[in-house]
Amino acid sequence: ASAAGMAAQETERDHVVIFPFMAKGHTIPLLHLAVALSARGLRVTLVTTPANSPFIRHHLPSCCHPAVDILTLPFPHIDPLPPGVESTDGLPSLDLYPAFLHATALLRRPLQHLLTRLLGGAARPPLCLISDFFLGWTLPLCRRFGLPRLVFHGMSAFSMALCKSLWVHQPHFTSAASGDHRLPIHVPGTPPSLLLTLTEVPDAIRNAANTDDPVTQYLNELVDSDISSWGMVVNSFAKVDGDYVRLLESFYRGGARAWLVGPLSLFAAPESHAHECLKWLDGKDRGSVVYVSFGTQVHVPETQLDEVAHGLVQSGHNFVWVVRSESWVPPDWVEKRGMIVRDWVPQRDILGHVAIGGFVSHCGWNSVLESLSVGVPILTWPMIAEQQLNAKHVVELLGAGVRVGGAEAGEIIGREEVAKGVKEVMGGGEKGGKARERAAELRRVAAAAVAEGGTSDRALEELLEELRRANS
Ligand code: UDP
Repeated sequence: ASAAGMAAQETERDHVVIFPFMAKGHTIPLLHLAVALSARGLRVTLVTTPANSPFIRHHLPSCCHPAVDILTLPFPHIDPLPPGVESTDGLPSLDLYPAFLHATALLRRPLQHLLTRLLGGAARPPLCLISDFFLGWTLPLCRRFGLPRLVFHGMSAFSMALCKSLWVHQPHFTSAASGDHRLPIHVPGTPPSLLLTLTEVPDAIRNAANTDDPVTQYLNELVDSDISSWGMVVNSFAKVDGDYVRLLESFYRGGARAWLVGPLSLFAAPESHAHECLKWLDGKDRGSVVYVSFGTQVHVPETQLDEVAHGLVQSGHNFVWVVRSESWVPPDWVEKRGMIVRDWVPQRDILGHVAIGGFVSHCGWNSVLESLSVGVPILTWPMIAEQQLNAKHVVELLGAGVRVGGAEAGEIIGREEVAKGVKEVMGGGEKGGKARERAAELRRVAAAAVAEGGTSDRALEELLEELRRANS
């Protein structure tokens, strides 16, 4: 095709602009959404910052080029952020999160220029901007350009609906004031049988009464942009989250809808098969290895890493364990039974390897979906944010996992409990066996959801139809 012909083709395609938040767990699912949209013939522009663009480029399959463009905005360097850090995964402490969010808000002006350029004279303006919850400042810009803003949270509809209800109705304040943290909390809008304890309420929501707190104030602003958005894109599927969509939508203004278009990881191309741990797994029996990862945000104390090491060895199972700590040195005997990896691993490919029988996970929502989409049951070990809610979802509602026992949230979990939990999730007990069956069933349902005519496939098509109508 001639260059002019190709350019004409480009202007005929529908175009979507996506701006992910700079944390791996928020970026990865939106990359997969870009792949899904480009497979439907759409043109996608991904907006990011210079230091994040190599990761994005590396994780986009070549089949997407040139339908996915990556455009960068210069990341402002402000104190006390370490120079060069443009992603929350590189922050030495979660205390720097507010400063990081503040820096991202300074991208407003450059984004305005970029949108002016993208929209100026375009025969077909973009259908929408999909931007992360943390980038709430994109909403007024979208309004200025007459562009619908879809918000993306990286969370399940279940967790989002519960968080919104807790934020608005604050039923947990009674439990907090009573001093009895085990007092059951009923979240308005949810079935009477679903009860939370205070430790299951995310920290930011527990602090919501403290309106003098700058983080609370900032969150209030984000929530306001969030609920005023045109709609939301949710990385989930009807079977897992359908019961909570209505409740979630009820907190939004103007009849905004939640579109469940996942699991988005099922749109991704396979990752690099060259990684050494995949070769190592090739030599292991089916379902014999446990995969252990606490995600990209959590810093696990070294005393806890010691207990995990002992527990894994005591369980008698082989393991692949991703460790983020740079200083922690495992005892020699640990690596006789398993593999400790410190660099970036192809997690989806590991979970999809036949040798993997269970996943010890912090329950970041991507990890949960990636595991269930390939039928791997989870030993839930939630730590921060909404991970406690995800763990509850997996164990109590979906029945596809078992809990690690032995400690209140935030306390060190001992080696015996780790060993016991690993044995259970690897199928050693009745609960583990049931979780394995449920995970296998969810694998089939997830595949059906994204296949042609499935719930997520239809939701994505309806969303695009609705956007075309909104723009016509
Ligand atoms: N991930 C990966 N390799 C790693 C670490 C993480 O592929 O070495 C991916 C993982 O597959 C998931 C994302 O990073 O897609 C982490 O998101 P999640 O919501 O599970 O947890 P978070 O890191 O945001 O707490």
